[in-house]
Amino acid sequence: MKKSLSDLNQKMVKCIQCPLSDSRTKVVTGRGSVPCDVLFVGEAPGRDEDEQGLPFVGASGKQLDKLLIEAGFGDVSYYITNVVKCRPIDAEGKNRVPSMYEINVCSGAWLIQQIKLLKPKIIVPLGRAPTAFFLQRYQGIPMEVDLVRMGDQHGKPFEIEGIQIIPTYHPASTLYHQANAAILLDDLKKVKEFV
Ligand code: URA
Repeated sequence: MKKSLSDLNQKMVKCIQCPLSDSRTKVVTGRGSVPCDVLFVGEAPGRDEDEQGLPFVGASGKQLDKLLIEAGFGDVSYYITNVVKCRPIDAEGKNRVPSMYEINVCSGAWLIQQIKLLKPKIIVPLGRAPTAFFLQRYQGIPMEVDLVRMGDQHGKPFEIEGIQIIPTYHPASTLYHQANAAILLDDLKKVKEFV
């Protein structure tokens, strides 16, 4: 039987492969067009996403939606997901950056299969965590999230199995840094030209 994204989602929402499953409310699988030309991969669900079960619905999601409109994505098919599908929290219950272990377990199990089913032409890692994952897995560069410098990586395409990977800044990092917002918008326009 041909596997579909909804079959995959049904399995994903039951995942208990890492300890993030203990504290999550909902597994955030993804949203958007299936298949898609562009796959955006963020870091991790925050509180709003964990409650609603959808990626990028909070402040950074609103920023992403705004910049996508400005970059002319109205007629582009795109899908949005994260390198980890459950919200990582610290000891005080606040959002934290996922560890490389959590990223590798989750994306190794789920993101890789999403990519096969969604068949994007371009993948856009948003920020350091997804950029670390793609650099490590496909460029063989040992990585930690903290070591990634988006100033060096953004807008520089590399190819994996016929797919262009074009990292850029995370929308949250552009909320208070106007310069980053301009760079993210420029990178999104570049992605749009590639499609
Ligand atoms: N930030 C992310 O990286 N992903 C989301 O889904 C929301 C905020």
